Amino acid sequence: MVKIKSLEEIESMRESALIVSQTLGMLAREIKPGVTTLHLDRLAESFIRDHQALPGFLGLYDFPNTLCVSPNAEVVHGIPNDNPLEDGDILSVDCGALKNEFYGDHAYTFTVGEVNEVTKKLLEVTKKSLYKGIEAFCIGNRVGDLGYAIQSYAESFGYSVVRELVGHGLGRDMHESPEIPNYGKRGRGKKFSNGMVIAIEPMINLGTKKIRHFSDGWTTKTADNQPSAHFEHNVALIDGKPQLLSTFDFIYDALGIQSDEEVPFKKVTSEL
Ligand code: MG
Ligand code: MG
Repeated sequence: MVKIKSLEEIESMRESALIVSQTLGMLAREIKPGVTTLHLDRLAESFIRDHQALPGFLGLYDFPNTLCVSPNAEVVHGIPNDNPLEDGDILSVDCGALKNEFYGDHAYTFTVGEVNEVTKKLLEVTKKSLYKGIEAFCIGNRVGDLGYAIQSYAESFGYSVVRELVGHGLGRDMHESPEIPNYGKRGRGKKFSNGMVIAIEPMINLGTKKIRHFSDGWTTKTADNQPSAHFEHNVALIDGKPQLLSTFDFIYDALGIQSDEEVPFKKVTSEL
């Protein structure tokens, strides 16, 4: 069953999402060749606890850490370890936080040092596909329309969409109804309604859509060892339109990136 949120609950969720956004912004300054993902994990855990919140992933379904870190061909759910990052790597960092009984859940794929153009393009298109999905999260549309928007955009570049892992409703539980696949058919699936809050998170592969599951029970990797990218935002449906609860602003501040991609989906606040 879909749990519809009140405007007050959505404001609480904005706080949870903001802590995750700030955590990713902090990490953006730390991600470089030579750094280990376990180091990033410890920084993230301290940062979240210092902001009066709890790491959302730690212990969830027995996951052992604060961050899911998935370099290069890993898709999602990688476990932090002692291997140093290398120049030319990409690193998907997925982070959750629990505050005021609500979860935030938000991810970004970072570049480490100098990354080749083919992989950079995959990151750019995957992030753009996330905004195509957000745009489709509106009254009059259904889950299939959102998936179609992501899939058709990503596939137009020759990339493929992971099928086994999907976005989801978000709230007092990390994973609520409905599932939000990154593929789909127009006009199919559950209708969107005001008060829905979802995590939209395309996982897009350069090569095959097939993935392998590791024996650690968590890590997933592309079957052809080609790179995979992952970006995730938390979005509420208010007055028929999508509104972002999470933001990449802190990451962009850290990395000196100029972007207006979030502007159409930001909460409008009065200037007076
Ligand atoms: Mg996530
Ligand atoms: Mg998620």
